[in-house]
Parts: sequence; C-alpha cells; structure tokens
Amino acid sequence: MRMRNPLPLRFLLRYSSALALFLSWPLRAQGLFTGKDPWRSAELFATAGGVVLLVLALVLLVSVLVWQGAAYLKRLSRAQAKAEADLRASNERFELAMRGSGVGLWDWDIRTGKVYYSPRWKALFGYGENEIGENFEAWATLLHPDEKDRICKFQEDFLAGTDQTVTAEYRLRHKDGSYRWIEASAIVVRDEKGRACRLVGSHGDITARKRAEEALRKSEEQLRTVLENSRDGINMLDLATGRYVFLSPAQVEMSGFTLEELNGITAEEAYARVHPDDRELSIAQHQRVIAGEDPGEPVEYRWKVKSGEYRWFSDRRKVVRDEQGKPVALVGISRDITQRKLGEQLLQEAREQSERDRKRLEAILQATPSAVVIIEAGGRFAYMNQRARELYGVDYSGAGLDVHIVQVQALDTDGSPFPVERLPVNRSLRKGEIVHGVEMTIQRPDGARLPVMVGSAPLYDSAGAVDAAVVVFEDISERKRVEETLRESESRAKVNQAVQRERQRFYDLLNILPAYVILLSPDYHVPFANRFFEERFGKSQGRRCFEYLFNRTQPCDNCETYTVLKTGVPHNWEWLGPDGRNYEIHDFPFTDADGSLMIMETGIDVTARKKAEASLKEANERLEERTAKLQELVGELEHFSYAITHDMRAPLRAMMGFAEVVSEECRECPNEQQKDLLRRIGTSARRMDLLITDALNYSRAVRQELPLAPVEVGPLLRGMLDSYPEFQPSRARIRIEGEIPPVMANEAGLTQCFSNLLGNAVKFTEPGREPQVRIWAERIGQSVRIWVEDNGIGISRIVVPRIFEMFYRGQHALAGTGVGLALVRKVVRGMEGKVGVESEPGKGSRFWLELKSAQFGK
Ligand code: ADP
Repeated sequence: MRMRNPLPLRFLLRYSSALALFLSWPLRAQGLFTGKDPWRSAELFATAGGVVLLVLALVLLVSVLVWQGAAYLKRLSRAQAKAEADLRASNERFELAMRGSGVGLWDWDIRTGKVYYSPRWKALFGYGENEIGENFEAWATLLHPDEKDRICKFQEDFLAGTDQTVTAEYRLRHKDGSYRWIEASAIVVRDEKGRACRLVGSHGDITARKRAEEALRKSEEQLRTVLENSRDGINMLDLATGRYVFLSPAQVEMSGFTLEELNGITAEEAYARVHPDDRELSIAQHQRVIAGEDPGEPVEYRWKVKSGEYRWFSDRRKVVRDEQGKPVALVGISRDITQRKLGEQLLQEAREQSERDRKRLEAILQATPSAVVIIEAGGRFAYMNQRARELYGVDYSGAGLDVHIVQVQALDTDGSPFPVERLPVNRSLRKGEIVHGVEMTIQRPDGARLPVMVGSAPLYDSAGAVDAAVVVFEDISERKRVEETLRESESRAKVNQAVQRERQRFYDLLNILPAYVILLSPDYHVPFANRFFEERFGKSQGRRCFEYLFNRTQPCDNCETYTVLKTGVPHNWEWLGPDGRNYEIHDFPFTDADGSLMIMETGIDVTARKKAEASLKEANERLEERTAKLQELVGELEHFSYAITHDMRAPLRAMMGFAEVVSEECRECPNEQQKDLLRRIGTSARRMDLLITDALNYSRAVRQELPLAPVEVGPLLRGMLDSYPEFQPSRARIRIEGEIPPVMANEAGLTQCFSNLLGNAVKFTEPGREPQVRIWAERIGQSVRIWVEDNGIGISRIVVPRIFEMFYRGQHALAGTGVGLALVRKVVRGMEGKVGVESEPGKGSRFWLELKSAQFGK
C-alpha cells in the first residue's frame, strides 16, 4: 500500500504555483515602480507601501489558509474514516490470507512489552482466542527447552544489531504437548537512535517439511552407508559421455586401482580389461540392458585387476532413464566371485572325483558276495546291490525308493519278530553304532525265510549327523545247513552213546536174570548170550550155535528157534537142553539197531516146575480117582437117602392111616387122653411127611441143573392161581398188577419159588383176616424185580437176616419146616438171581425176586 504524503506538504505542493504567483505580485509591482530588482527583499520592505502591501498579503494569506485548513480538516476526517475502513478490510483480508496460508502473525511492542498474537497464530499451537496472554512470556514458555537459550540469545543479538529482517527455525510446544517446527520471519522497527522498539513477524508450521527433510536425510545417509559399506561394488556409467561417473569404494577396491587412477575411466577402457573369452558376453548383456530387455541372470566374467590377475566378477546392471524414457545411465552392481568360482571348480572336481569313487565303489559293491543296502534315516532304501535284490527277493532300488523296510521282516533266530530297537540298522541310525555279526532270519515279502548275518555302520552328512546306515547281509543258510548237519551228527553220536549206555544197562539187567537170553543171527552165530546162558552152556567164542551147543557141523534138522525167521511171529516151545534140564523157550523176531534181523530167545528153566507139574498131575489123577469114587459114594448115598426117605413115607403113611382108622373108631370113645394121643400121632406123621417132602425137594434142587430160558411170568402165575386150592378167591385175594415182563429162569424152579412165597403170604395172616396179596413187577436195569406183598403178620427186623436160612421157622403156629425160603434162595441163585424181603411186624411183608430180563435191550 502506498503511503500518502503529510497534509501540509500536499497542500503546498497543490497550491505552490498559485502561492508563488500571489507572493510574487507585490514584488513585481514594486519592481515595476521602483525599477528595482524585486528579488532583493531587503530593499523592498524598507518602504511603507511595501509594508502595507506585505501586511495585506499576509492577511489574505492567513484567511485563505484558515478557509483551506477547515476544508482540509473536513476532508481529512473523511479520508481517515475511509482509511481505517480500508485498513480493517485489508487486515481482515490479510488475516484470512494468513489463515489460509497457515501462517500466524504477531506484533511485539518492545517498549510496552505488549504482544499481539493473531487468532491463526494461537490456533497453530492449539489455543483458543483467550488462552494466550498478550505478552512475551506467552511465546517464550512455548520454546523447546533444548533451543530456548539458543533462540533467546539469537533474538537478543538481532535486536541489538542493525539488521531489519530476520528468519529462524525452531520448535514451539503445541497445547497437546508435542513440539512443532516453525519458520519465523520478522521485521524490526528501530527508533532514530537505532534501538529496536517493535518487532513484527509471522510463524509458519514447517513440521511436515522438517520430517520429510529428516526422512530424506536419513535415507540419503542410509544410501551413502550402503554405497560406502556395500561389499558389492556399485558403479554408474554416464551413457552420454561413456564415462563412469560414480564408483563406490568397494568397486574401487575390487579393481585394485585407486579412485584417482580410475577417475574418468571409460566403458571402453573398462571392457578392454575383461577376459577375451568373456568380453563378448559381457558387452552383449550391457547392450541388452540398455535396449530395455530382461538382463536375465547376472553376467559373470573375468576382469584383469591392477595386479594383472584375472578375477571373477558377477554384474547386475540396470538402466536409468530420463523423463522422456531415454537411457541416460547404466548402474552396475558387481561382486567379486573369484572365491565362489574357485569353490565351484573344486566342487566340480570333487564331484567328478566322488562320481568316479562312487562308480568304483558301486562296482565293488555289485561284485561283493554280500548283500549291501544303504538305508536313509527316514527308512528309505537309498541303495541296494544286486546281491541285496536277490536276497530280499524284491528290488527296492529302482525309481520308487519310497518303500519302508517293514516289507521285509526281520525275525529272531527263534522265529519271533526281531526287536526293532535291536535291529543293526536302527542301532547305527539312532546311536551311530557300528554293529557286527548279528544273526537273524529275513522273511521276504513272498514269505520265504533266509538266515543271515547282519552288520551295519552309520554314514554321516556334512554336519556330522547320521543320515544313513550301510547294512551288509551275509546269507548264512549254507553255513547253517553245515552246522545243522554237524549238530545232527553230534546228536546222533550222543544218541548212539545213550543207546550204548542203555544197551549196557539192558545187558546188565539181562545178566542178572534167572533165565537165559541170547541173540541169534540168521547165520547161526550168537552175538549175545547173558550170564545165565554162558554159565549153563559156556561161551560161544564165535562158534555157531549148532557147533557150540551140539558139536554139530550142520544146523539141526528141525530147529524150532529159526522158524521165527520164516514166520516173523513169536514162537513158544519147550526144549530139553543138553544139560538135561527143561526150558520154556520164547523166540521173538528182533531187529537190531543197525536194522539187521535177529532172533531173541529167552529160556526159562522150568525143570522144577515140570517136576511139580508132573507130581501135581499125579496128585490130580489120584484126586480125580478119589472124587469119582466119592461121587459114586455120594450118588449111592443120595440114592440111599432118597430111597430111604421115600421108603420112610410108606410106613409113615401106614402110621397115618392106622392112626386115622383108630381115631375114627375111637370117635365115640370117652377117653380124651387117648384121643389126644392119636391126634398127635397123626400130626407128627404129617409133619414128618412134609419134612421128608421138603428135604427131598431141596436135595433135588441142590443137585438139579437149572437150564435158563425166557419165562412168561404172568401166565405162569395165573396158572398157579387157578390150580392151587389155597390161592382160590374163596380163601385169599391175590391180584397180579400190571404187566410182568418175561425173565430168564427155569420154569419149574420159578414155579417152586412162587409156590413157596405165595403159600407163606397166604399162610402167615392173622386168624380171621382175609389174606390179600399183590403181585407186580418193576424193571431195574437189565433185570426184573417181582414183588409179592401180603397183609400178613409181618416179620420182626431181628429175624429178617435169618429168614432164608435152612430150617429157620418163626414162632407162628403155622410155621412149617423152615425149608421153604431156603429152597427159594437156593433156586433163585441157581437161576443167577437175587431174593430179599422188606417187612415190619403187623404191616405185612413184601418179598421180591430179581431175575434177568428176557427182553434184551429193553
Ligand atoms: P415154614 O413156612 O415151613 O415155616 P419157611 O422157610 O417157608 O418155613 O419160612 C420160615 C419162617 O419164615 C416161617 O416159619 C415164618 O415164621 C416166616 N415167614 C415166611 N413167610 C412169611 C410171611 N409171608 N409172613 C410172615 N412170616 C413169614
């Protein structure tokens, strides 16, 4: 904004010409009249007219001035108001502009100490309109502690100096506590003595710029560090000049030259040092990169360093283009790879060497008779030689090696699975052990088993860790076979010894036998004779039996001993030896341990027995004679007793008859004693008769043979019931209950038994009581038990065991001869049966007979 001139000066400038004309008029007039030079005033004002004229002029001038002054003041107040409005507008515009630009304003009146901070300034640091005091301290307290001294000193120096303007960058604290970089510009107003009385300035926030600058600085520093410290050499070729414009320290060092020596070096010069064999390749890549093609792998070439030695380098190259895309420079990153190349060369040589070794080793492994397998730590087959493939029966060494070892099973010598942790391969892989000579059996996938001797050793990787194991298998089946044969022959020898021992023990036993035992060969030799034989007949001493025993030159005509060789079956016979004694001979065909056929002959001296037998025979003959005589006697006796008993009946019957006749005649006779005597004679005679009948029956039963045959018991009983008067329903009630199976018996004997049992059952009943008899049968195993139960007087327990004895009779009035039950027992036993009774006095008796059933299998 243009500053206007002060009012009086403007007035004078506007009216100066008129005023000069006016003031000059009296001078001109006087000059006209006086002829004097009007510009010589001292002369002019020495006259009265001149004075009047001067006063008039002055009055006029003052009036004009007053009039003009009033008009001016009026104009001035109008102009001032406008100027103030303009200024306000201008300030607002300025403040708006400042706000828009982000710059804060301040105005420091140094004399009063008052500072104006614009709202934008306050907002820059996060404060509101009324939060900042209008003083110097408001600013000073915001200064960064690290910079407070520096900035204050700087300000003092500036204010004390003569400079009009100043700029500075420093940090002020924001309300949020953070520090903001600001750029301060100020202008100072100094008084006439040069003292600073006012300082006006602006503050702009340059934090972002500062940060960017810092980041740039850092990245530049990093880049520099990289460039300076990179082991790789970095170079830049200016394509316009064809000279290298940058060579990093590493690049320089690699070349062996100094930076000065390389200063300004051209690409051409550099390529001239590339090994002729690699030059073309290197240049081609250079051109490809510039042409914008993919450079591919870094180019490797030999470069002659200062010492004249060729070293290997590997270069990556990149083109730098300008805004139009035109290549301007080529940046290269080189690395000295001489060591690596050397290593590779050595490695290649080593590889070739190891390949040769491997081939040689493989040839050896293929030629070895042992099976060799290399198993990796993961259990994979890395290698198998031909023998291993044969032994395993499976080829794991082809393309697909990914087959686990378990397909071929390892078995312990006893056939059980070989413990995994003890497997040689595992011991080598896990513990690094070298294992020798472990015996095991391999079971192939096809099931075949093979005894092997296994050894293994660990193989190490470059870090010294076990990464595989080489396992060597030796097929020991042949050795096993030999061992087996050996063992067998050993055991055979042992068996032979045992057999020998056993044979000796057997011979010892034979030697103490009280009989002779000899072995005879088919050619009549006597390979063995026990002591008994030798004591009787002497030693054979290699002579044949007929020579030795009988002094014959030919075998005996009918030798019983040697018949066993023909028949092959044992043969027993008796022999009268040359010693005159009798021998019971047992000949057995005998196969010796070696398989040869022989005869074993035992001879028991039976001379004493023979004699005893002879005398026994004699005694027997005598006995038989005597028995025959005795039997004859018994027969006679039986006949006699039968005859006598039979004959006794005749006089008895006569007695009974006569007694009856007498008692009939004496019926009217008053002599009771005589009558009683006659009755007794009759009774005794009947008893006698009964006794004789029973005795005859018994003796017949005893002598009688009882041939057995099936007997139908039911019909037999029913026949008896019909024919016996005492079994008639008028006298007794006898029932046959159920089926009675047929039995093996003698019909006459059985009839005798039932006759006695039923007779007793009916007989031994309380007087006046009707005899009731039940007959039934039950099967017991293969037998039939027939029961006869009565309702009679019963039998006391003490008597039961004696009841089948001969002549036992009870106390009952009706008791008979006591032969009946004895007869029953005798007959039943004769029919291979049993008899018994169950009874209690007063409760009847139950007799039973048990006979074999005639219904076999039922
Ligand atoms: P006896 O009938 O001639 O006396 P037994 O030998 O038949 O001879 O019988 C011997 C004795 O057994 C008989 O005297 C009688 O005391 C007793 N006795 C036999 N059967 C029966 C029966 N059914 N009930 C009671 N007692 C009997």
